[in-house]
Amino acid sequence: NAESTLIITVVGASGDLAKKKIFPALFALYYEDFLPENFTVFGYARTKLTDDELRNMICGTLTCRIDKRENCEEKMDQFLKRCFYHSGQYNSEEHFAELDEKLKEKEGEKLSCRLFYLSIPPDKFVDVVRCASLKASSGNGWTRVIVEKPFGRDSESSGELTKCLKQYLNEDQIFRIDHYLGKELVENLSVLRFSNLVFEPLWSSNYIRNVQFIFSEDFGTEGRGGYFDKYGIIRDIMQNHLLQMLALFAMETPVSLDAEDIRNEKVKVLRSMKPLQLEDVVVGQYKGQSTGGKTCPGYTDDPTIPNDSLTPTFAAAALFINNARWDGVPFLMKAGKALHTRRAEIRVQFRHVPGNLYKRNFGTDLDKATNELVLRVQPDEAIYLRINNKVPGLGMRLDRSDLNLLFRSRYPKEIPDAYERILLDAIEGERRLFIRSDELDAAWALFTPVLKELEEKRIAPELYLYGSRGPVGAHYLAAKYNVRWGDLSGDDS
Ligand code: NAP
Repeated sequence: NAESTLIITVVGASGDLAKKKIFPALFALYYEDFLPENFTVFGYARTKLTDDELRNMICGTLTCRIDKRENCEEKMDQFLKRCFYHSGQYNSEEHFAELDEKLKEKEGEKLSCRLFYLSIPPDKFVDVVRCASLKASSGNGWTRVIVEKPFGRDSESSGELTKCLKQYLNEDQIFRIDHYLGKELVENLSVLRFSNLVFEPLWSSNYIRNVQFIFSEDFGTEGRGGYFDKYGIIRDIMQNHLLQMLALFAMETPVSLDAEDIRNEKVKVLRSMKPLQLEDVVVGQYKGQSTGGKTCPGYTDDPTIPNDSLTPTFAAAALFINNARWDGVPFLMKAGKALHTRRAEIRVQFRHVPGNLYKRNFGTDLDKATNELVLRVQPDEAIYLRINNKVPGLGMRLDRSDLNLLFRSRYPKEIPDAYERILLDAIEGERRLFIRSDELDAAWALFTPVLKELEEKRIAPELYLYGSRGPVGAHYLAAKYNVRWGDLSGDDS
């Protein structure tokens, strides 16, 4: 309202994430009138920049939605006028005190609300939180801090980070982002389950044979492997993005849509799971390949990666939830870089039809007779349900067909980026899409033992070709639980 101000300080404003995601998301919120009347954006980093240099740096990445090009340039100019910059060290209380002076100048006598977005390497988190909370927190309103993964490397380091952050902040001031939770299809998962009678009654081991969470990228580290090599694909994708989707998929019905009620249910699911076992994991690493005159370098050919690195760029895993709803259902995960395609999806394979009349009479292939529900999170958002159908004609031939909800056809309006949703929620104090500390602990408890074992035993990843479908071990792992990966079935749309 007119009596309060909001200042968003992007710490690490000179970096890639700030340029590509945070400033464009803030502009989109401004353009759509979601930011309060009195808002200001500050960039903070060590690089020396003037306000105008910051504005020049970010103006190239601001975009207007295809359906909203009106007044775009004018709006950009207005937005950029509200962006300022302060250069300083991440561990200097003095520099944050200088920032505080600048923030106060903008705030005047109004109620001050301050949001700090930490877009910096994780080893700088605690320094920044200390300096910002001691020297630049709001005197009369709220102060919140958004942090991005990685939240530690294992249970111990994550617990230590939480402990250090909590020396300066309360839990309700910390907004731990998993930007996957801001994706349209992931938000839609609960709507699909809890507002359609046709799905929720089937949502258990009675009808679901297995669930698959699949993430693939069609490019490698491409010279930016420093961060990745310390973490690997299990920490980078599985322990957070895929596990978050799993928790939302498998949780019980929350008491309400309040953040705490939803997060309570997610924690319950995570705590009902068995820690991942080494025999239920396959790790892989991509190697170079040359085809048609094009050379794709292998992971260890990347100059930012040590030659003898055993870091997995691919992993497949089978997880189980020991509760009444999901007993015995394999939850399979697969994540990899430098694969043949780019996608993120959830695939639900239903049980075979008992005593299937058509299989008995016409010998329909067992796998083809399985219904499958697919939620494609990216790219090209879609929900489709594989059903069996009669091929029109005088004979009796069955076919697999899709009931298809392709978002771009049904909702031609551009879908907001996940960072827009996340930033808006943090501004509004809505915590539903952020990770609570007990949730983070439960997530690490599932993966830490196997990560330690992989590293201590120096388990060599299975090599796979850049641009391929990943190591064959992933098929054996799925076959062990009588599962076929849905994305490799050959008739995928
Ligand atoms: P970045 O460009 O490497 O770093 C952001 C800024 O931090 C840099 O502009 C630099 O600013 C400062 N910085 C970098 N290395 C530093 C060092 N060793 N010591 C002190 N300051 C350093 O990273 P980013 O891609 O923008 O991502 C920001 C953070 O978000 C990452 O650290 C990561 O934790 C997280 N993250 C990023 C992505 C992504 O897609 N990029 C995805 C997930 C998580 P100055 O030199 O000007 O101070």
